[in-house]
Amino acid sequence: ERAALAVDHLSVAYRSGEEVLGAVREVSFHVGRGETVALVGESGSGKSTIGFALMGLLPDAGEVTDGSVQFLGRPLEIGSDAELATIRGRQMSMVFQDPLTALNPVLTVGRQLAELFTVHQKASRREAWRRAVDLLRMVKIPDPERRAKQYPQQLSGGMRQRVVIAMALALGPSLVIADEPTTALDVTVQAHVMALLEDLAKQTGAGTLLITHDLGVVASYAKRVYILYAGQVMERGPIRSIYERPAHPYTVGLLESVPRVTGEQQDLQPIPGSPPNLSDAVTGCPFHPRCPLATERCRAETPAMTPVAEGRAAACHYAKEVFAGDHDDRLRAP
Ligand code: ATP
Ligand code: SF4
Ligand code: MG
Repeated sequence: ERAALAVDHLSVAYRSGEEVLGAVREVSFHVGRGETVALVGESGSGKSTIGFALMGLLPDAGEVTDGSVQFLGRPLEIGSDAELATIRGRQMSMVFQDPLTALNPVLTVGRQLAELFTVHQKASRREAWRRAVDLLRMVKIPDPERRAKQYPQQLSGGMRQRVVIAMALALGPSLVIADEPTTALDVTVQAHVMALLEDLAKQTGAGTLLITHDLGVVASYAKRVYILYAGQVMERGPIRSIYERPAHPYTVGLLESVPRVTGEQQDLQPIPGSPPNLSDAVTGCPFHPRCPLATERCRAETPAMTPVAEGRAAACHYAKEVFAGDHDDRLRAP
């Protein structure tokens, strides 16, 4: 089976003056057709940068320094190219955290949706408008004929994000990149918007790359996950299996700091310390300053992705032992 998206050793750097910041470092992952895969990591771990690079939307300071991407079996140009991004909008689209940045404030939402069909599919204006209203209905916006004539500011945050999702799925993309699609929304609306995204992706067969800092969200929507830290993949695999037996000390810490969806109340332990400065050259394991298991080897030698089980691997010298639970006493809170 050919993957919808296969990213191989992607590296992205930001330049400001003399300083070069390695925001994404040799990241590899794939998303199968129709599959939902999550990229999870703390703020600054490089999640959005990966999304922007794939969409051709990197800012001027950003540069792809290494790696290659295959999309639908063909090589894909990545980086920053507005023209590319427009073309790409058809087969790959992105839902951003803040719906207002994705919508044009001076156009009605119906007009914005309709333009997708007139521009990309040469639909007549009347036909495009009809399809725009249909789309609003599909994303469960009440009274879609009336809402279509309104401006983004006249809609609630939840409705705006539904419009953005409608736009992202309008042209039947093979992949939707959803970057923290619900963090700007009310908690009560979040679940509805995620359910909608999931539902539409299923209907249209689109693959989804879900970008989030929230491991809790991931559990309900993605089967596979890639855990990012300081621009690198620390661990990958099926989410259920990772929940049960993490193989990377960072994942263990992350899970300890996430409220469990089920089970009784427990004390949440944030991981002590902070991520490394990305403008420094990273020697050894990027997590070593915060890792309870760090040894001399960890400071000197970069750990390779070590397979620990079917579909599972972690970038840790001691991944097999961590996976086996040998270090639970040192890694987990008592
Ligand atoms: P968040 O969860 O906060 O959205 P993220 O995982 O999406 O974080 P990115 O936005 O990709 O992280 O940022 C990765 C790193 O690149 C951070 O250190 C950030 O400060 C830096 N960075 C992002 N955009 C730029 C830019 N335009 N110029 C310089 N550095 C940038
Ligand atoms: Fe910790 Fe060493 Fe594994 Fe890095 S390689 S996570 S420092 S044990
Ligand atoms: Mg981000």
